[in-house]
Amino acid sequence: MSGEHEAQSEAPSIDPETLRAYLLDELPPGTLARVEKALRDSAELRAQLEDVRQNRTEVGLHSLGAIWRRSRLTCPSRQQLGSLLLDALDPELAAYLQFHIEVVECPFCQANLADLKGKAEPTSTLARTRQHRILQSSKHLLGDDGRG
Ligand SMILES: [Zn+2]
Repeated sequence: MSGEHEAQSEAPSIDPETLRAYLLDELPPGTLARVEKALRDSAELRAQLEDVRQNRTEVGLHSLGAIWRRSRLTCPSRQQLGSLLLDALDPELAAYLQFHIEVVECPFCQANLADLKGKAEPTSTLARTRQHRILQSSKHLLGDDGRG
């Protein structure tokens, strides 16, 4: 029995509607900051965001462009990505970058990171294969926005 979880201390509930607005880049700055902080703190909420994102046709989220725009806007610098690889980042920032790369799945940062990794390791063929796959999947995503 592991009773209490203290992570819930000051997390106000964020409903799917708010998450949808977040993906559409429609939140006022104050709420945006709150949602981003909550996303950093809560794996559960990140899973919820993923749900909302996957069901985008259902919730009327057809503008994939808004997501791309949003994720580009919050892209970390290449230097920050390098620091992430070296474990030299502020934990909060590192968590955000991981969120950006693994949950938002920003192809730009993923490619950047793969590139940086390829420079750090001698196995550059592997990195190239990965970059190729990323390119393939982003091509698919970019071609996928005229549905419905
Ligand atoms: Zn990015």
